[in-house]
Amino acid sequence: MFPEKTNYDLVIVGGGLAGLAAAVSAGESNLTTLVLEKGRTLGGDGNYVEGAMGIDSYLQKEQNIAIDAGELLQDELNYSHYEANALHLRKYLSASGKIIDWLHSLGVNFSKVGPQGKSWPTIHTFAGGGHAVVEILQQKATSYGVEIVNSISAQRVIQRNGHVTGLLLKNEATGQYREVATSNVILATGGYVDNPELVKKRIPNTTRLLSVSDGKSTGDGLRLAWQAGADHYQMGAIQYGGGAILDKTRPAYVHMPAQLAAAATQEAILWVNEQGNRFINEDVNDNMCHAGSALLTQSRTFSILDQMAIDHLTNVGLYKEVGNSPVSPAKFANLTSEIERDLANHEKYLTKAASITELGQKLNLPCLAQTIAHYNELTTQGRDTDFGKAKEYLTPITTGPFYAVELGIGMACAIGGIRVDNDSAVLNSYGYPLPGLYAAGNDAAGMLVGDTYAVTLPGSTAGYAVFSGRNAVMSIIVKAG
Ligand SMILES: Cc1cc2nc3c(=O)[nH]c(=O)nc-3n(C[C@H](O)[C@H](O)[C@H](O)COP(=O)(O)OP(=O)(O)OC[C@H]3O[C@@H](n4cnc5c(N)ncnc54)[C@H](O)[C@@H]3O)c2cc1C
Repeated sequence: MFPEKTNYDLVIVGGGLAGLAAAVSAGESNLTTLVLEKGRTLGGDGNYVEGAMGIDSYLQKEQNIAIDAGELLQDELNYSHYEANALHLRKYLSASGKIIDWLHSLGVNFSKVGPQGKSWPTIHTFAGGGHAVVEILQQKATSYGVEIVNSISAQRVIQRNGHVTGLLLKNEATGQYREVATSNVILATGGYVDNPELVKKRIPNTTRLLSVSDGKSTGDGLRLAWQAGADHYQMGAIQYGGGAILDKTRPAYVHMPAQLAAAATQEAILWVNEQGNRFINEDVNDNMCHAGSALLTQSRTFSILDQMAIDHLTNVGLYKEVGNSPVSPAKFANLTSEIERDLANHEKYLTKAASITELGQKLNLPCLAQTIAHYNELTTQGRDTDFGKAKEYLTPITTGPFYAVELGIGMACAIGGIRVDNDSAVLNSYGYPLPGLYAAGNDAAGMLVGDTYAVTLPGSTAGYAVFSGRNAVMSIIVKAG
Protein backbone atom coordinates (compact mmCIF):
# COMPACT_ATOMS: atom_id res chain seq x y z
CA MET A 1 0.00 0.00 0.00
CA PHE A 2 1.18 3.51 -0.83
CA PRO A 3 1.87 5.78 2.18
CA GLU A 4 -0.97 7.64 3.87
CA LYS A 5 0.35 11.18 3.60
CA THR A 6 1.70 13.08 0.61
CA ASN A 7 4.31 15.13 2.48
CA TYR A 8 6.94 14.12 5.08
CA ASP A 9 9.87 15.80 6.89
CA LEU A 10 11.98 12.77 6.04
CA VAL A 11 11.71 9.73 3.79
CA ILE A 12 14.05 6.78 4.48
CA VAL A 13 14.65 4.42 1.57
CA GLY A 14 15.23 0.89 2.91
CA GLY A 15 13.83 -0.78 6.01
CA GLY A 16 17.02 -2.63 6.98
CA LEU A 17 19.34 -2.02 9.88
CA ALA A 18 20.42 1.48 8.85
CA GLY A 19 16.94 2.57 7.75
CA LEU A 20 15.29 1.37 10.97
CA ALA A 21 17.99 2.94 13.18
CA ALA A 22 17.38 6.21 11.32
CA ALA A 23 13.62 5.75 11.75
CA VAL A 24 13.89 5.40 15.54
CA SER A 25 16.20 8.43 15.72
CA ALA A 26 13.76 10.47 13.61
CA GLY A 27 10.89 9.32 15.81
CA GLU A 28 12.80 10.40 18.93
CA SER A 29 13.04 13.88 17.37
CA ASN A 30 9.39 14.06 16.27
CA LEU A 31 10.11 14.25 12.53
CA THR A 32 7.20 13.22 10.31
CA THR A 33 8.88 10.17 8.83
CA LEU A 34 8.19 7.55 6.20
CA VAL A 35 10.20 4.34 5.72
CA LEU A 36 9.96 2.69 2.30
CA GLU A 37 10.82 -1.01 2.11
CA LYS A 38 10.74 -2.68 -1.30
CA GLY A 39 10.56 -6.19 0.14
CA ARG A 40 7.52 -7.83 1.68
CA THR A 41 9.37 -8.06 5.00
CA LEU A 42 11.56 -5.66 6.95
CA GLY A 43 15.14 -5.95 8.11
CA GLY A 44 17.09 -6.74 4.92
CA ASP A 45 20.40 -8.43 5.65
CA GLY A 46 20.16 -6.92 9.12
CA ASN A 47 18.10 -10.03 9.95
CA TYR A 48 21.19 -12.23 9.63
CA VAL A 49 23.70 -10.03 11.42
CA GLU A 50 25.59 -11.63 14.30
CA GLY A 51 26.83 -8.49 15.96
CA ALA A 52 27.92 -4.87 15.79
CA MET A 53 31.23 -3.07 16.29
CA GLY A 54 31.77 -0.74 19.22
CA ILE A 55 34.62 0.78 21.19
CA ASP A 56 34.23 1.80 24.84
CA SER A 57 30.71 0.40 25.20
CA TYR A 58 29.05 -0.37 28.54
CA LEU A 59 29.82 -4.07 27.97
CA GLN A 60 33.49 -3.51 27.23
CA LYS A 61 33.74 -1.34 30.36
CA GLU A 62 32.09 -4.09 32.42
CA GLN A 63 34.62 -6.59 31.08
CA ASN A 64 37.65 -4.28 31.34
CA ILE A 65 38.23 -4.41 27.58
CA ALA A 66 40.15 -1.24 26.81
CA ILE A 67 40.94 -0.34 23.20
CA ASP A 68 43.26 2.46 22.18
CA ALA A 69 41.10 4.20 19.54
CA GLY A 70 44.10 6.05 18.08
CA GLU A 71 46.03 2.83 17.60
CA LEU A 72 42.98 1.15 16.09
CA LEU A 73 42.45 4.03 13.65
CA GLN A 74 46.08 3.81 12.54
CA ASP A 75 45.75 0.05 12.14
CA GLU A 76 42.63 0.37 9.96
CA LEU A 77 44.19 3.11 7.84
CA ASN A 78 47.22 0.89 7.23
CA TYR A 79 44.98 -2.11 6.44
CA SER A 80 43.11 0.00 3.88
CA HIS A 81 46.33 1.48 2.44
CA TYR A 82 44.92 4.85 3.49
CA GLU A 83 41.99 4.51 1.09
CA ALA A 84 39.59 4.66 4.05
CA ASN A 85 38.38 8.18 4.78
CA ALA A 86 40.14 8.94 8.08
CA LEU A 87 37.80 11.81 9.02
CA HIS A 88 34.69 9.69 8.64
CA LEU A 89 36.19 6.56 10.16
CA ARG A 90 37.35 8.56 13.20
CA LYS A 91 33.87 10.00 13.74
CA TYR A 92 32.35 6.51 13.50
CA LEU A 93 34.91 4.95 15.85
CA SER A 94 34.47 7.61 18.51
CA ALA A 95 30.65 7.28 18.41
CA SER A 96 30.56 3.46 18.12
CA GLY A 97 30.49 2.61 21.85
CA LYS A 98 27.63 5.06 22.41
CA ILE A 99 25.77 3.42 19.53
CA ILE A 100 25.98 0.05 21.33
CA ASP A 101 24.78 1.75 24.54
CA TRP A 102 21.89 3.37 22.62
CA LEU A 103 20.80 0.01 21.20
CA HIS A 104 21.01 -1.46 24.70
CA SER A 105 18.83 1.38 26.04
CA LEU A 106 16.19 0.45 23.42
CA GLY A 107 16.12 -3.13 24.71
CA VAL A 108 18.75 -4.84 22.52
CA ASN A 109 20.69 -7.42 24.52
CA PHE A 110 24.22 -8.53 23.77
CA SER A 111 25.40 -12.02 24.69
CA LYS A 112 29.14 -11.28 24.50
CA VAL A 113 31.81 -8.95 23.18
CA GLY A 114 35.18 -9.95 21.77
CA PRO A 115 37.30 -10.61 18.67
CA GLN A 116 36.61 -12.77 15.62
CA GLY A 117 39.72 -14.67 14.60
CA LYS A 118 42.74 -12.39 14.73
CA SER A 119 40.95 -9.06 15.17
CA TRP A 120 40.22 -6.23 17.57
CA PRO A 121 37.74 -7.28 20.32
CA THR A 122 34.93 -5.13 18.94
CA ILE A 123 32.02 -7.36 17.94
CA HIS A 124 29.04 -7.16 20.29
CA THR A 125 27.00 -10.30 19.59
CA PHE A 126 23.24 -9.75 19.50
CA ALA A 127 21.32 -12.09 21.82
CA GLY A 128 18.62 -13.52 19.52
CA GLY A 129 20.51 -12.49 16.37
CA GLY A 130 19.90 -9.60 13.98
CA HIS A 131 16.23 -10.47 13.63
CA ALA A 132 15.61 -9.58 17.30
CA VAL A 133 17.21 -6.16 16.75
CA VAL A 134 15.11 -5.52 13.64
CA GLU A 135 11.95 -6.29 15.62
CA ILE A 136 12.91 -3.95 18.47
CA LEU A 137 13.74 -1.09 16.08
CA GLN A 138 10.54 -1.59 14.10
CA GLN A 139 8.39 -1.58 17.24
CA LYS A 140 10.14 1.48 18.63
CA ALA A 141 9.84 3.41 15.35
CA THR A 142 6.15 2.53 15.02
CA SER A 143 5.52 3.58 18.63
CA TYR A 144 6.88 7.04 17.72
CA GLY A 145 4.43 7.29 14.82
CA VAL A 146 6.90 6.57 12.02
CA GLU A 147 5.03 5.21 9.00
CA ILE A 148 6.57 2.06 7.50
CA VAL A 149 5.34 0.68 4.18
CA ASN A 150 6.34 -2.63 2.59
CA SER A 151 6.53 -3.57 -1.10
CA ILE A 152 7.11 0.08 -2.04
CA SER A 153 10.40 0.99 -3.69
CA ALA A 154 12.02 4.33 -4.37
CA GLN A 155 12.63 4.83 -8.09
CA ARG A 156 13.98 8.36 -8.43
CA VAL A 157 14.94 11.34 -6.27
CA ILE A 158 13.07 14.48 -7.37
CA GLN A 159 15.03 17.76 -7.12
CA ARG A 160 14.33 21.41 -7.79
CA ASN A 161 17.27 23.81 -8.17
CA GLY A 162 19.51 21.04 -6.82
CA HIS A 163 17.45 20.55 -3.63
CA VAL A 164 15.58 17.36 -2.83
CA THR A 165 11.82 17.95 -3.10
CA GLY A 166 10.43 14.43 -3.26
CA LEU A 167 10.65 10.85 -4.39
CA LEU A 168 9.06 8.77 -7.11
CA LEU A 169 7.69 5.54 -5.59
CA LYS A 170 6.65 2.24 -7.14
CA ASN A 171 4.20 -0.23 -5.67
CA GLU A 172 6.05 -3.52 -6.29
CA ALA A 173 2.82 -5.51 -5.99
CA THR A 174 0.68 -3.51 -8.46
CA GLY A 175 3.30 -1.76 -10.61
CA GLN A 176 1.71 1.67 -9.92
CA TYR A 177 3.77 4.83 -9.43
CA ARG A 178 3.23 7.81 -7.12
CA GLU A 179 5.19 10.84 -5.92
CA VAL A 180 5.69 11.87 -2.33
CA ALA A 181 7.00 15.27 -1.20
CA THR A 182 9.90 15.68 1.22
CA SER A 183 13.00 17.82 1.59
CA ASN A 184 15.12 15.06 3.20
CA VAL A 185 15.89 11.57 1.89
CA ILE A 186 18.17 8.99 3.50
CA LEU A 187 19.31 6.23 1.14
CA ALA A 188 19.79 2.99 3.10
CA THR A 189 19.30 0.28 0.49
CA GLY A 190 22.00 -2.19 1.58
CA GLY A 191 24.73 -1.81 -1.05
CA TYR A 192 25.17 -3.69 -4.31
CA VAL A 193 26.13 -7.31 -3.61
CA ASP A 194 23.08 -8.61 -5.53
CA ASN A 195 23.75 -6.52 -8.64
CA PRO A 196 26.15 -8.52 -10.87
CA GLU A 197 26.84 -5.53 -13.15
CA LEU A 198 27.94 -3.38 -10.21
CA VAL A 199 29.92 -6.25 -8.66
CA LYS A 200 31.71 -6.52 -12.02
CA LYS A 201 32.91 -2.92 -11.59
CA ARG A 202 34.83 -4.21 -8.56
CA ILE A 203 35.63 -7.81 -9.65
CA PRO A 204 35.44 -8.35 -13.43
CA ASN A 205 35.11 -12.15 -13.31
CA THR A 206 32.06 -12.94 -11.21
CA THR A 207 31.43 -16.56 -12.23
CA ARG A 208 32.62 -18.02 -8.91
CA LEU A 209 31.14 -15.35 -6.64
CA LEU A 210 28.11 -16.39 -4.58
CA SER A 211 25.98 -13.87 -2.69
CA VAL A 212 24.72 -14.98 0.72
CA SER A 213 22.58 -11.85 1.04
CA ASP A 214 18.75 -11.91 0.89
CA GLY A 215 18.87 -10.86 -2.77
CA LYS A 216 17.52 -7.32 -2.28
CA SER A 217 20.85 -5.46 -2.12
CA THR A 218 20.67 -4.54 -5.79
CA GLY A 219 22.50 -1.21 -5.64
CA ASP A 220 19.34 0.94 -5.83
CA GLY A 221 20.84 3.54 -3.49
CA LEU A 222 23.85 3.96 -5.76
CA ARG A 223 21.64 4.35 -8.84
CA LEU A 224 19.38 6.89 -7.09
CA ALA A 225 22.35 8.89 -5.80
CA TRP A 226 24.20 8.87 -9.14
CA GLN A 227 21.02 9.97 -10.97
CA ALA A 228 20.74 12.84 -8.50
CA GLY A 229 24.29 14.01 -9.28
CA ALA A 230 26.40 12.12 -6.72
CA ASP A 231 30.06 11.38 -7.25
CA HIS A 232 30.79 7.92 -8.71
CA TYR A 233 33.05 7.04 -5.79
CA GLN A 234 35.37 4.02 -5.58
CA MET A 235 33.50 0.70 -5.52
CA GLY A 236 35.11 -0.11 -2.17
CA ALA A 237 35.07 -3.66 -0.91
CA ILE A 238 33.17 -6.88 -1.08
CA GLN A 239 32.86 -8.71 2.21
CA TYR A 240 33.96 -12.22 1.28
CA GLY A 241 32.96 -14.97 3.65
CA GLY A 242 35.97 -17.02 2.53
CA GLY A 243 35.39 -20.13 0.44
CA ALA A 244 31.90 -21.46 -0.22
CA ILE A 245 30.64 -24.64 -1.87
CA LEU A 246 30.32 -23.89 -5.60
CA ASP A 247 26.72 -24.83 -6.25
CA LYS A 248 24.85 -22.80 -8.85
CA THR A 249 21.62 -24.76 -8.37
CA ARG A 250 20.60 -23.29 -4.99
CA PRO A 251 21.01 -20.03 -3.06
CA ALA A 252 24.43 -19.93 -1.40
CA TYR A 253 23.05 -19.47 2.12
CA VAL A 254 21.66 -23.04 1.97
CA HIS A 255 25.19 -24.36 2.46
CA MET A 256 26.18 -21.95 5.23
CA PRO A 257 25.27 -24.28 8.11
CA ALA A 258 26.70 -27.40 6.35
CA GLN A 259 29.57 -29.18 8.08
CA LEU A 260 30.95 -30.17 4.67
CA ALA A 261 31.23 -26.46 3.85
CA ALA A 262 33.11 -25.83 7.11
CA ALA A 263 35.40 -28.85 6.49
CA ALA A 264 36.19 -27.66 2.95
CA THR A 265 36.62 -23.98 3.77
CA GLN A 266 37.12 -23.04 7.42
CA GLU A 267 39.04 -26.24 8.23
CA ALA A 268 40.63 -26.69 4.81
CA ILE A 269 43.44 -29.25 4.76
CA LEU A 270 44.62 -28.60 1.23
CA TRP A 271 43.40 -26.25 -1.49
CA VAL A 272 44.48 -26.76 -5.10
CA ASN A 273 43.79 -24.91 -8.33
CA GLU A 274 42.63 -25.99 -11.79
CA GLN A 275 46.01 -27.65 -12.42
CA GLY A 276 46.06 -29.43 -9.08
CA ASN A 277 48.72 -27.07 -7.70
CA ARG A 278 48.67 -25.68 -4.18
CA PHE A 279 48.55 -21.85 -4.16
CA ILE A 280 48.16 -20.51 -0.58
CA ASN A 281 48.50 -21.23 3.14
CA GLU A 282 45.02 -22.62 3.75
CA ASP A 283 44.83 -21.09 7.26
CA VAL A 284 44.45 -17.72 5.49
CA ASN A 285 40.83 -18.15 6.56
CA ASP A 286 41.71 -16.49 9.86
CA ASN A 287 40.75 -13.45 7.75
CA MET A 288 37.77 -14.56 5.63
CA CYS A 289 38.18 -11.64 3.23
CA HIS A 290 41.81 -12.53 2.58
CA ALA A 291 40.71 -16.13 1.99
CA GLY A 292 38.19 -14.95 -0.60
CA SER A 293 40.81 -12.83 -2.34
CA ALA A 294 43.28 -15.74 -2.38
CA LEU A 295 40.69 -18.10 -3.90
CA LEU A 296 39.96 -15.52 -6.60
CA THR A 297 43.59 -15.56 -7.74
CA GLN A 298 42.93 -18.96 -9.36
CA SER A 299 40.49 -20.01 -12.10
CA ARG A 300 39.06 -22.99 -10.23
CA THR A 301 39.67 -24.14 -6.67
CA PHE A 302 39.18 -27.48 -4.93
CA SER A 303 39.41 -28.45 -1.30
CA ILE A 304 40.95 -31.90 -0.85
CA LEU A 305 40.02 -34.14 2.08
CA ASP A 306 41.02 -37.71 2.88
CA GLN A 307 39.23 -40.21 5.11
CA MET A 308 41.66 -39.50 7.96
CA ALA A 309 40.66 -35.83 7.96
CA ILE A 310 36.98 -36.74 7.92
CA ASP A 311 37.48 -39.17 10.83
CA HIS A 312 39.43 -36.55 12.76
CA LEU A 313 36.82 -33.83 12.25
CA THR A 314 34.05 -36.28 13.16
CA ASN A 315 35.60 -37.88 16.24
CA VAL A 316 38.06 -35.33 17.62
CA GLY A 317 36.95 -32.00 16.18
CA LEU A 318 38.64 -28.97 14.73
CA TYR A 319 42.35 -29.03 13.88
CA LYS A 320 42.62 -25.38 14.76
CA GLU A 321 40.09 -22.91 16.14
CA VAL A 322 39.21 -20.66 13.21
CA GLY A 323 37.48 -17.34 13.67
CA ASN A 324 34.52 -16.19 11.56
CA SER A 325 33.07 -19.67 11.09
CA PRO A 326 29.30 -19.88 11.20
CA VAL A 327 29.83 -23.59 11.92
CA SER A 328 32.07 -24.29 14.89
CA PRO A 329 30.89 -27.52 16.47
CA ALA A 330 33.35 -29.35 18.69
CA LYS A 331 32.84 -32.39 16.46
CA PHE A 332 31.54 -32.59 12.88
CA ALA A 333 28.97 -35.28 13.70
CA ASN A 334 27.00 -34.82 10.44
CA LEU A 335 29.94 -34.70 8.07
CA THR A 336 29.74 -38.32 6.84
CA SER A 337 25.97 -38.27 6.35
CA GLU A 338 26.19 -34.97 4.45
CA ILE A 339 28.87 -36.48 2.15
CA GLU A 340 26.77 -39.61 1.57
CA ARG A 341 23.68 -37.51 0.80
CA ASP A 342 25.53 -35.26 -1.65
CA LEU A 343 27.17 -38.22 -3.43
CA ALA A 344 23.80 -39.97 -3.72
CA ASN A 345 22.38 -36.75 -5.23
CA HIS A 346 25.31 -36.56 -7.70
CA GLU A 347 26.08 -33.01 -6.61
CA LYS A 348 28.59 -31.59 -9.09
CA TYR A 349 30.68 -29.89 -6.41
CA LEU A 350 31.65 -33.16 -4.68
CA THR A 351 33.92 -35.85 -6.17
CA LYS A 352 35.03 -39.08 -4.48
CA ALA A 353 37.83 -41.43 -5.60
CA ALA A 354 39.61 -44.46 -4.23
CA SER A 355 43.06 -43.05 -5.00
CA ILE A 356 44.67 -39.64 -5.47
CA THR A 357 45.53 -40.55 -9.05
CA GLU A 358 41.90 -41.38 -9.77
CA LEU A 359 40.75 -38.10 -8.14
CA GLY A 360 43.17 -36.13 -10.33
CA GLN A 361 41.93 -37.96 -13.45
CA LYS A 362 38.24 -37.46 -12.63
CA LEU A 363 38.71 -33.69 -12.20
CA ASN A 364 41.42 -33.23 -14.81
CA LEU A 365 43.94 -31.92 -12.27
CA PRO A 366 47.25 -33.11 -13.83
CA CYS A 367 49.53 -31.99 -10.96
CA LEU A 368 47.41 -33.29 -8.08
CA ALA A 369 49.39 -36.45 -7.26
CA GLN A 370 52.70 -34.58 -7.35
CA THR A 371 51.27 -31.75 -5.21
CA ILE A 372 50.01 -34.13 -2.55
CA ALA A 373 53.30 -36.09 -2.46
CA HIS A 374 55.18 -32.83 -1.90
CA TYR A 375 52.63 -31.53 0.62
CA ASN A 376 52.96 -34.78 2.61
CA GLU A 377 56.74 -34.24 2.76
CA LEU A 378 56.12 -30.78 4.25
CA THR A 379 53.84 -32.28 6.89
CA THR A 380 56.61 -34.80 7.80
CA GLN A 381 59.08 -31.94 8.14
CA GLY A 382 56.53 -30.07 10.25
CA ARG A 383 57.20 -26.85 8.35
CA ASP A 384 55.34 -25.33 5.42
CA THR A 385 58.34 -23.90 3.59
CA ASP A 386 56.11 -23.12 0.56
CA PHE A 387 53.42 -20.87 2.09
CA GLY A 388 53.97 -20.81 5.87
CA LYS A 389 50.80 -22.50 7.10
CA ALA A 390 50.67 -22.98 10.89
CA LYS A 391 52.19 -26.26 12.08
CA GLU A 392 49.05 -27.56 13.85
CA TYR A 393 47.28 -27.41 10.50
CA LEU A 394 49.85 -29.47 8.57
CA THR A 395 48.00 -32.75 8.19
CA PRO A 396 49.07 -35.41 5.65
CA ILE A 397 46.69 -36.68 2.97
CA THR A 398 47.27 -40.42 2.80
CA THR A 399 44.17 -42.43 3.59
CA GLY A 400 41.49 -43.19 1.01
CA PRO A 401 38.86 -42.65 -0.07
CA PHE A 402 39.72 -39.12 -1.17
CA TYR A 403 37.31 -36.24 -1.77
CA ALA A 404 37.41 -32.94 -3.65
CA VAL A 405 34.92 -30.14 -3.02
CA GLU A 406 34.82 -27.39 -5.64
CA LEU A 407 34.82 -23.92 -4.10
CA GLY A 408 33.46 -20.55 -5.05
CA ILE A 409 33.67 -17.40 -2.93
CA GLY A 410 30.83 -16.29 -0.65
CA MET A 411 29.91 -12.60 -0.47
CA ALA A 412 27.93 -11.09 2.42
CA CYS A 413 27.81 -7.48 1.26
CA ALA A 414 29.34 -5.00 -1.16
CA ILE A 415 30.05 -1.47 0.03
CA GLY A 416 31.15 1.58 -1.90
CA GLY A 417 30.07 3.75 -4.83
CA ILE A 418 28.79 6.75 -2.81
CA ARG A 419 30.83 9.40 -1.00
CA VAL A 420 29.40 11.16 2.04
CA ASP A 421 30.66 13.86 4.39
CA ASN A 422 30.73 13.69 8.17
CA ASP A 423 27.03 14.68 8.23
CA SER A 424 26.30 11.57 6.10
CA ALA A 425 25.29 13.94 3.27
CA VAL A 426 25.88 12.58 -0.25
CA LEU A 427 28.63 14.47 -2.09
CA ASN A 428 29.00 15.41 -5.73
CA SER A 429 32.29 15.00 -7.55
CA TYR A 430 33.45 18.45 -6.35
CA GLY A 431 32.99 17.37 -2.73
CA TYR A 432 29.83 19.45 -2.09
CA PRO A 433 26.67 17.96 -0.52
CA LEU A 434 23.55 17.44 -2.62
CA PRO A 435 21.08 19.39 -0.44
CA GLY A 436 18.66 17.06 1.33
CA LEU A 437 20.25 13.77 0.21
CA TYR A 438 21.90 11.47 2.76
CA ALA A 439 23.24 7.90 2.66
CA ALA A 440 23.63 5.35 5.43
CA GLY A 441 24.57 1.71 6.01
CA ASN A 442 26.17 -0.32 3.23
CA ASP A 443 25.32 2.41 0.68
CA ALA A 444 27.89 4.68 2.38
CA ALA A 445 30.17 2.18 4.13
CA GLY A 446 32.72 2.19 1.30
CA MET A 447 34.04 5.27 3.12
CA LEU A 448 35.51 3.02 5.82
CA VAL A 449 37.63 0.70 3.68
CA GLY A 450 40.12 0.33 0.89
CA ASP A 451 39.64 -2.60 -1.45
CA THR A 452 39.24 -5.18 1.36
CA TYR A 453 36.48 -5.31 3.94
CA ALA A 454 37.66 -4.43 7.46
CA VAL A 455 37.13 -7.82 9.03
CA THR A 456 39.96 -6.74 11.35
CA LEU A 457 37.24 -4.66 13.00
CA PRO A 458 34.43 -7.22 13.28
CA GLY A 459 30.85 -5.99 13.26
CA SER A 460 31.89 -2.82 11.46
CA THR A 461 29.13 -2.73 8.82
CA ALA A 462 26.31 -3.39 11.29
CA GLY A 463 27.76 -0.85 13.72
CA TYR A 464 28.11 1.63 10.87
CA ALA A 465 24.54 0.98 9.70
CA VAL A 466 23.21 2.06 13.10
CA PHE A 467 25.73 4.91 13.51
CA SER A 468 25.20 6.38 10.04
CA GLY A 469 21.39 6.10 10.09
CA ARG A 470 21.40 8.01 13.37
CA ASN A 471 24.12 10.42 12.21
CA ALA A 472 22.12 11.40 9.12
CA VAL A 473 19.05 12.18 11.23
CA MET A 474 21.10 14.27 13.70
CA SER A 475 22.46 16.27 10.75
CA ILE A 476 18.97 16.87 9.37
CA ILE A 477 17.82 18.15 12.77
CA VAL A 478 20.84 20.44 13.18
CA LYS A 479 20.36 21.83 9.65
CA ALA A 480 16.66 22.43 10.32
CA GLY A 481 17.81 24.62 13.26
C1 LIG B 1 24.48 -13.51 6.15
C2 LIG B 1 25.00 -12.15 6.52
C3 LIG B 1 25.56 -11.95 7.78
C4 LIG B 1 26.06 -10.69 8.12
N1 LIG B 1 26.60 -10.54 9.37
C5 LIG B 1 27.13 -9.35 9.74
C6 LIG B 1 27.67 -9.16 11.06
O1 LIG B 1 27.63 -10.05 11.91
N2 LIG B 1 28.20 -7.95 11.35
C7 LIG B 1 28.23 -6.92 10.45
O2 LIG B 1 28.77 -5.86 10.77
N3 LIG B 1 27.68 -7.06 9.22
C8 LIG B 1 27.14 -8.23 8.84
N4 LIG B 1 26.56 -8.38 7.58
C9 LIG B 1 26.54 -7.25 6.66
C10 LIG B 1 25.16 -6.57 6.63
O3 LIG B 1 24.83 -6.38 5.27
C11 LIG B 1 25.13 -5.22 7.31
O4 LIG B 1 25.78 -5.15 8.51
C12 LIG B 1 23.71 -4.62 7.51
O5 LIG B 1 22.63 -5.43 7.17
C13 LIG B 1 23.70 -3.37 6.65
O6 LIG B 1 22.55 -2.64 6.87
P1 LIG B 1 21.84 -1.83 5.68
O7 LIG B 1 20.68 -1.17 6.29
O8 LIG B 1 22.84 -1.03 4.95
O9 LIG B 1 21.35 -2.97 4.67
P2 LIG B 1 20.17 -4.03 4.87
O10 LIG B 1 20.06 -4.38 6.31
O11 LIG B 1 20.39 -5.13 3.91
O12 LIG B 1 18.84 -3.22 4.47
C14 LIG B 1 18.64 -2.67 3.18
C15 LIG B 1 17.14 -2.65 2.91
O13 LIG B 1 16.87 -1.77 1.83
C16 LIG B 1 15.82 -2.32 1.06
N5 LIG B 1 15.83 -1.71 -0.29
C17 LIG B 1 16.74 -1.89 -1.28
N6 LIG B 1 16.46 -1.14 -2.35
C18 LIG B 1 15.32 -0.44 -2.04
C19 LIG B 1 14.51 0.49 -2.75
N7 LIG B 1 14.80 0.92 -4.00
N8 LIG B 1 13.40 0.99 -2.14
C20 LIG B 1 13.06 0.59 -0.90
N9 LIG B 1 13.79 -0.32 -0.17
C21 LIG B 1 14.91 -0.81 -0.74
C22 LIG B 1 16.15 -3.81 1.05
O14 LIG B 1 15.04 -4.58 0.68
C23 LIG B 1 16.60 -4.01 2.50
O15 LIG B 1 15.53 -4.37 3.34
C24 LIG B 1 26.02 -9.62 7.20
C25 LIG B 1 25.43 -9.81 5.94
C26 LIG B 1 24.92 -11.07 5.61
C27 LIG B 1 24.30 -11.27 4.26
